[in-house]
Amino acid sequence: MSNANVIEIFSSAQGEGKFLGCRQVFVRLAGCNLKCNFCDTDFNRTEFCRVETSAGSMTFRNEKNQLDAAQVAEIIKNFCGEVPTHSVSFTGGEPLLHWKFIRDVAALVDAKIFLETNGTLVDEFEKISNAVDFVSMDIKLPHVVGKNLFDVHEKFLRAAHDKDLCVKIVVTGETSDKEFISAIELVANIDEKIFTVLQPVTPVNGVSAVSAGKILSWQAIALRRLKNVRVIPQTHKFINVL
Ligand code: SF4
Repeated sequence: MSNANVIEIFSSAQGEGKFLGCRQVFVRLAGCNLKCNFCDTDFNRTEFCRVETSAGSMTFRNEKNQLDAAQVAEIIKNFCGEVPTHSVSFTGGEPLLHWKFIRDVAALVDAKIFLETNGTLVDEFEKISNAVDFVSMDIKLPHVVGKNLFDVHEKFLRAAHDKDLCVKIVVTGETSDKEFISAIELVANIDEKIFTVLQPVTPVNGVSAVSAGKILSWQAIALRRLKNVRVIPQTHKFINVL
């Protein structure tokens, strides 16, 4: 039975992307292999995992890290028993750094598994692909991470194509037309039906917001190549849920 450093476990409404508003149990795992300039998530390892005391209460108790898969599965079962739940979202950081743990928890719960990933750890994803139902995969634009990840994103997209898949592209005031169009071409060359979300950045760390006119013009560009392109900001921040 594997274990992992877990930052928090709670029940809330999904605030981003294709499954916006769906009730989920969130399992936030520590660590990330990227450094995005707009990152607003504290994914460092913690001594304690904060576990919501009941589904949606937003009050927490502490459990000493690391947690084992059976412990986390029990917490998930309790939350799903309290509130009918769409799926269990493994998020981070980058959850695929803990692929064995996700595999082991998934085997112990009777729930759909949702993966929120930066779309770079292809080998790890392939090891647990059978256990995953939904994938929300980021395409990280070069100005965000300081390097071009399009080749690995393409491999990941092909590996996840048979899942209920959503691509998310966070756009900022610094995003160039060239890198945006390259990202859209990358998705369209795999499948024009891939559900694609343009997420205007929530400005942090001096990263500038994207203008309304720009986001609409990018949606128009994307819609010429893809069938389903939505503009969806991070909504959980509007209503102060987790
Ligand atoms: S991949 Fe996600 S968690 Fe990792 S640095 Fe980027 S925004 Fe933060």
